[in-house]
Amino acid sequence: MQLVSDKLSQPKDILLSVIVPVYNEEQVLPIFHHRLDQVLSALPNERLEVIYVNDGSSDDSWEVMLSLSSCCAALECINLSRNFGKEAAMTAGIDHCKGQAVMLLDADLQDPPELIPDMLAAWQQGFDVVNMKRTARHGESWFKKCSAGIYYKLLDHLADVPVQKNVGDFRLISRRVIDEIKQLSEKNRYMKGILSWPGYKQTTIEFDRPAREAGKTKWSFPQLVGLALSGITAFSVKPLRLSVWAGVIISLAAFLLAFWVLIKTALLGEVVQGYPSLMLVQLLLGGVQLIAIGVCGEYIGRIYTEVKGRPCYLVMEIEHKVRIVKEQKKHA
Ligand code: UDP
Ligand code: MG
Repeated sequence: MQLVSDKLSQPKDILLSVIVPVYNEEQVLPIFHHRLDQVLSALPNERLEVIYVNDGSSDDSWEVMLSLSSCCAALECINLSRNFGKEAAMTAGIDHCKGQAVMLLDADLQDPPELIPDMLAAWQQGFDVVNMKRTARHGESWFKKCSAGIYYKLLDHLADVPVQKNVGDFRLISRRVIDEIKQLSEKNRYMKGILSWPGYKQTTIEFDRPAREAGKTKWSFPQLVGLALSGITAFSVKPLRLSVWAGVIISLAAFLLAFWVLIKTALLGEVVQGYPSLMLVQLLLGGVQLIAIGVCGEYIGRIYTEVKGRPCYLVMEIEHKVRIVKEQKKHA
């Protein structure tokens, strides 16, 4: 492939690694593989690898994965010892990939493999990270679209690293950025932040995100909230500062109220009225204190998991499948 040769230092280098986290995708995996293979076989290069990471699926995804083959790419099937979550599955792929350009794709075809040539072209122009921005999100509920909008706004204000709106994990990352990411030792991984953190030369390509080809989303609402919180606490300490500010403002308000009550009693002779107002202040203060303690708890929880230093995934087995070389007819 013309795109490639000047970027490679050794002839045996793998050009492109495609990483696909898989959790209970037995229905869609063969369709995905077929479409990916068609796109890859149109690339005039043989140094391609596809890394499927089975994230402890409880269906037959692993067996389906093992039955796949390709004549244009080497396949690596990684079987994690249980379900560790998408972030860990992607980390496993990143740790094992060898490509000069690395792509992360969901298995449900919401990240269309047909966009791979455009992403490679952007990489060839010298970009280290090619972000894929969703202009439309088909097949997602009104609630998910709204909450995603609010969340990205919040993250934009809070996070110390610019995390692009509506850019998921679907992106191309150059080898030097992958090497930087591999240096990060954090176990509690929020990939959207981690992938944005190194910076380098970035570009964005917009695309319409289609609905899932088959099966259903693996994220429940509490899991999405957990991921959102993890994103904020992993890349910002602003919530801690906000709770300090909330404390200062509420104390100031309480001080002014006390002053007002004193004046009313001393000068106007009015006795303080008020079970309802007392209750209100009590509840407000209680609520704010609990939120502030919860915010501290989130950070302490993160410190706790990091201090334990457990690996973020365990690999049970790895199957390598070499590219199937089509037999050439020999002409006498
Ligand atoms: N996934 C995973 N482990 C999990 C959950 C999901 O590897 O614990 C994979 C899943 O198989 C898919 C990708 O992550 O390839 C995205 O998952 P999903 O489509 O459920 O997320 P959504 O698109 O709804 O955000
Ligand atoms: Mg999906």
